[in-house]
Amino acid sequence: MGKEKDLIQRSLVVCKPDAVQRGLVGEIVHRFERVGLKIVGMKMVMPDEEQYKEHYEGIGEMITRRGEEVFRYNLNYMMTGPVIAMVLEGVEAVPLVRKIVGSTEPQKADMGTIRGDYAHMSFGYSDAKQVGVPNLVHASGSPEEAKKEVALWFNEAELYDYSDLNEKFTR
Ligand code: ADP
Repeated sequence: MGKEKDLIQRSLVVCKPDAVQRGLVGEIVHRFERVGLKIVGMKMVMPDEEQYKEHYEGIGEMITRRGEEVFRYNLNYMMTGPVIAMVLEGVEAVPLVRKIVGSTEPQKADMGTIRGDYAHMSFGYSDAKQVGVPNLVHASGSPEEAKKEVALWFNEAELYDYSDLNEKFTR
């Protein structure tokens, strides 16, 4: 492989507590698999508050972007149950996965995206109710964040290098 290998990226995807509790994990994974993204790691976990603080503020700088109150609502939401974490690999996978997931506010997310198809809540409603908006999936925002998030959530031994049958045509 030459220069093109720099365009193979890994993204951290988390099926959030609402996705797990609504039984939507299969639907979500299917959408990533059908475009040919490769699952290189996957597990069910229930991270503690420290890990979520590192994920959303240490790496994601969420307090600066969204404020302390929304940060706290979001932590409470994420702590409501176990999640399915996975690492997906493919050509420029980080922006591709974000496109499949859709924008943060479900009501504004395009139809055809995971957040647009399986949720409809607005920020206005979630903020009035003082909850983090349940939007089913987390996906890394940039390649730099993806590297840090994958290292936070997965050990090297939990990530696998293998060839899949799509690669003849997808790489
Ligand atoms: P994204 O997950 O799309 O990268 P952010 O990192 O900005 O978005 O926010 C993290 C999570 O916090 C969102 O996915 C969502 O669940 C929740 N959230 C963000 N903004 C709000 C808001 N204004 N009201 C309620 N929840 C929010």
